[in-house]
Amino acid sequence: MTNRLLNNLNEQQIDAVKTTEGYVRVIAGAGSGKTKALTSRFAYIVEELGVSSSNILCVTFTNKAAEEMRKRVKALIGDNADVSLISTYHGFCVRVLREDINKILYPKSFIIMDVEDQKTILREVFAELNLTSKDLSFKTALREITVRKSSLEYLEYILEGRKDKGQNEMDRIFQRYIEKQQRNFALDFDDLMNYAIYIFKKHEDVLVKWQKRICYIQVDEVQDSSEKQFSFIEMLSQINKNLFIVGDPDQTIYEWRGATPKILVDFDKYFPDTKTIIMNQNYRSTPNILNLGNHIIKRNTIRVDKDMFTENVQGVDVVHFHGSTETEESLWVVNEIKELVKEKNAKYSDAAILYRANHVSRSIEQALIKENIPYTIYGGIRFFERREIKDILAYLRLLEFGDDFSFLQVINLPTRGLGRKFIENVSKYAELSNASLFNALIENINQPELIRSGALEFIKLIDELKILKRIKSISDLVKDILDKSGLTKVIRADGDEDRLNNIKEFVNSIILLENESGENISLEEYLQEISLFTNMDLKDGSIDKVKLMTIHTSKGLEFPYVFLSGFSEGILPSAMSISERTASALEEERRLTYVAITRAEKGFYITESEGYNFNTGSNKYPSRFLFEINEAFYVRKGTLRQEVIEEAKQSFEREKEKLALLEKRKNLVLFSVGDHVNHPILNKGRIIEVNEIKGEYTVLFEERNVTRPINFLYGRLEKIEI
Ligand code: ATP
Ligand code: MG
Repeated sequence: MTNRLLNNLNEQQIDAVKTTEGYVRVIAGAGSGKTKALTSRFAYIVEELGVSSSNILCVTFTNKAAEEMRKRVKALIGDNADVSLISTYHGFCVRVLREDINKILYPKSFIIMDVEDQKTILREVFAELNLTSKDLSFKTALREITVRKSSLEYLEYILEGRKDKGQNEMDRIFQRYIEKQQRNFALDFDDLMNYAIYIFKKHEDVLVKWQKRICYIQVDEVQDSSEKQFSFIEMLSQINKNLFIVGDPDQTIYEWRGATPKILVDFDKYFPDTKTIIMNQNYRSTPNILNLGNHIIKRNTIRVDKDMFTENVQGVDVVHFHGSTETEESLWVVNEIKELVKEKNAKYSDAAILYRANHVSRSIEQALIKENIPYTIYGGIRFFERREIKDILAYLRLLEFGDDFSFLQVINLPTRGLGRKFIENVSKYAELSNASLFNALIENINQPELIRSGALEFIKLIDELKILKRIKSISDLVKDILDKSGLTKVIRADGDEDRLNNIKEFVNSIILLENESGENISLEEYLQEISLFTNMDLKDGSIDKVKLMTIHTSKGLEFPYVFLSGFSEGILPSAMSISERTASALEEERRLTYVAITRAEKGFYITESEGYNFNTGSNKYPSRFLFEINEAFYVRKGTLRQEVIEEAKQSFEREKEKLALLEKRKNLVLFSVGDHVNHPILNKGRIIEVNEIKGEYTVLFEERNVTRPINFLYGRLEKIEI
């Protein structure tokens, strides 16, 4: 038995597997067999020590990685093993709470809220406090709620009735938000671990029960654990003192969410008896791919240098493809995949297309569909099925076809007070006259059940859009739909960057099509073209599909062929993370690139293209990281013109200056969102936004009900308590 487990492991891995007791840390680069060692160790503990798998806690970062780990463990110790303690941090917290939350008088059937539920609560809170999205976007409010939940203090407020003293706007929002949560016994994502820690702290018997039950703890991807997550795990290890952690500091990609790679680096300082195991051999990738990864990550200044080697065969060259348009880039990727299938006997599922931002999938998906290649999006939704895109398409269809499906989708979107009852009434008239719902509504609008201000507004809106349809291009029409219907306002209130980006990407794709087709394309033609992408037969049973996912989702996974697409400045590195977090963000973006490269086994391809970049508002050009790579490391396909290179380099210079300015501004911030201030002329106001990029606050002056941008340097705002 042991032999079967140990046979295909190297010396360091065997060491890791056999050192079952005490504090052990494995630090090693990508693809060196860390997860393999960890899963083998799990099996070893079960088979050689005779400890049940339900006494071994194994945590990792993403659901996908946890799933992969469960699969590998089951392959070693059999399908019937209980692997429910192989989980994410949050998954494990839910497990604890389902068992013990009654200690704090919550029902075991407590509700777990998702972001949409959170927004529902916020909507109520905003209404009660007479706030609108002009005062604060949901996104900002949610971010502030997370900040306030980073300490456990709020739990004393809701669970022990201690009164909160904070009094600014955000404090009031927060207070009501958590009161509503409690009334519904609803926990949001941040609460899960907080509640578990709280119960452990207040009820020692519960803590001891879990500490005894969990004899061994293993943590994978520890570089992305936050301080809180780690101390939670550490607390659980205090009786048995068997804690095995595994990670690669170069793959930290969640620093923006509190990851502290320091835990891995300083582990031996917390636990002086720590045994450290280093692994240097990479088993995943060809030397070409591995060398490229090593080469890129060396640029980071905050890191411990380590070099990986491999005995794998040389394999093929890494390829960079530069497309003159996005369409060309995507078609190239798709054709390359077809070649791999034809020439190298690869399967579609051997290919993964990775990207930094969700909206990048749009043009790739269109190319895949055009070429009839099945694909699946890991942890995401197909572009044309994303809600915000479907909503706009429904408006377009209603304008063109006046059909019932589109009508039903948009009649109450955004809310016009036209609920189910109203629609039933419209249906009755439609049946009577055998007309479409929309026509029935128009013809019978004067009937008492139908004459509502929302309905009149809707008819007027559609009439107006129909006129615009005749004179405007489709891309402009879409902008009008968004503005005039109020959809933009709703999405702005949400402040969901992803949805806004998807819409920009959508408009962008239409402009591209309009430019490519030369002459004006009609709405009917456009909808016909697009129906190919929206009426997909989703039930296609094939499991052999190309995999699309963000780099974040790809962590810990591996694929024979990897395409890193959308390798453009502003996408990777992302414009936003750089402007928000500056230098340290840039290193994290570089680590993301490293993670993407090191997912590949046999082939690695980088692609990017020219065109318009709505993230930066300028032309697209290759990522600065491409220029950091010595050209000896890859071959280039497609023509990268000198002008594009020049343009890129100039913009990097400008960017550098901007960064320096930004760093300076960061030190000037005196107030935060929700603070009340006094202005010598405009009187009392409230900070509703702090914009470090522009170097200004947005202040709402309540007496006058106006907002004004006030420069950081102004110096005459004074904080006041209310
Ligand atoms: P990452 O940092 O990306 O999570 P990792 O260090 O966890 O990588 P694994 O996923 O465990 O690496 O292993 C990478 C690949 O190498 C897997 O396909 C695994 O089966 C293989 N592998 C690991 N160790 C060995 C070994 N000793 N001999 C042969 N193959 C190995
Ligand atoms: Mg791993």
